[in-house]
Amino acid sequence: MQRHSKIKIGISSCLLGEEVRYDGGHKRDRFITDRLAPYVTFVPICPEVGIGMGIPREPIKLVGTANNYRALGVKDETLDVTEDLAKFADSMATRLAKVSGYIFKSRSPSCGMERVKLYPKSSAMPSRDGIGVYAKRIMELLPDLPVEEEGRLNDPVLRENFVERVFVYRRWQDLVAKGVTPARVIEFYTRHKLIVLAHGQRGHQAMGKLVANIGKESTQEIAQRFVSNLMAVLKKPATRRAHTNVLQHIQGYLKKELDKSDKQELTQTIEQYRLGHLPLIVPITLLRHHFRRNPVEYINNQIYMNPHPPELMLRNSL
Ligand code: SF4
Repeated sequence: MQRHSKIKIGISSCLLGEEVRYDGGHKRDRFITDRLAPYVTFVPICPEVGIGMGIPREPIKLVGTANNYRALGVKDETLDVTEDLAKFADSMATRLAKVSGYIFKSRSPSCGMERVKLYPKSSAMPSRDGIGVYAKRIMELLPDLPVEEEGRLNDPVLRENFVERVFVYRRWQDLVAKGVTPARVIEFYTRHKLIVLAHGQRGHQAMGKLVANIGKESTQEIAQRFVSNLMAVLKKPATRRAHTNVLQHIQGYLKKELDKSDKQELTQTIEQYRLGHLPLIVPITLLRHHFRRNPVEYINNQIYMNPHPPELMLRNSL
C-alpha cells in the first residue's frame, strides 16, 4: 500500500501528554501516543491555552440551552470565553486545512465533540447536549474532516472507522493537490468502491449515481459533493454483515481460479467471520493470498484490500 508518512492529524494537546489542562495535568492516551503516533504527524492544539487562559487556570463549563450556550468560568461566571474560543478556531482553519483528521478530548467544554455537560441556568443538573465551543466551530468550518474523540477510539469498530476515514481523506487531499479532473475522481471512486460497499448498499448506490453525473456538471461542484457524500457514507461504521457481503463479492472474482478445496476453505473462512468466530483480517489475508497467485487488476487496486498500515492491527479484533 501507499505509505503516508506525513499524514497529519489535529489533536487536543493534553491527549499527547502535554500538561496544558486547567489544573496543570494531562490526559495522555496510550493508543494515540504509542500505536498511532509512528504513522502520523500530530498537530497539537490547546484552544484554552491558545486564547491566553494560562496554566493553571479557572476551569470553564457550558451554560445555557442546546441551541444557545456560553463557555463560562466555573467559579466566576462573569468570565465568558465563548467568542474567544470560536475566534481561535477561525484562526486555526488555515493551519488545519492540511490535516486529514482531528482527535478531540472528550467531555471538554472547549474540545468535546458531543455529549458535553451543559448546565441550564436555573438548575444544577446538567444535560449531555453540549458540544465544546472550539470543536463545534472547527466541525462547522471543516465539515468533511474526519473527527473522533479519544474515548470512542477504544472501541475497535470506531477506531478502524476513524483511521480508515483519515486515510481516505488524505488520498482525496492528494488528488485535490494534483488537480481535480473528472477522470481522476472516477479513478479515485473506482479504487474505493469496495470500501464504500462495506458501509452499506444505500451509500454505495447513492455514490454510484453521483459518480455517473461526473462530466455533466461543473467539476468543482461535483467534486465537493462527491467528497462530502463520501465522507458522510464512511462515517457510518461498516457492519460484519456488510463486510461479509464485500468478501463474498470479492470471492466471486475467483470462481474459475480456485479448485474445490480452496473454494471450500475460503467459503468457510468467510462464514466463520460472519458468525463472529474470526476477525476480518483472516478472510482478507486468505483473499490476498489467492489474488497474489491469480491477479485481478480491479481487486488488487481496491483500497479495501489494504486500507491502512497493517501494523495498526485494526482488523484483528473479533
Ligand atoms: S481538552 Fe482541549 S482545552 Fe482542555 S486541556 Fe485539552 S486541549 Fe486544552
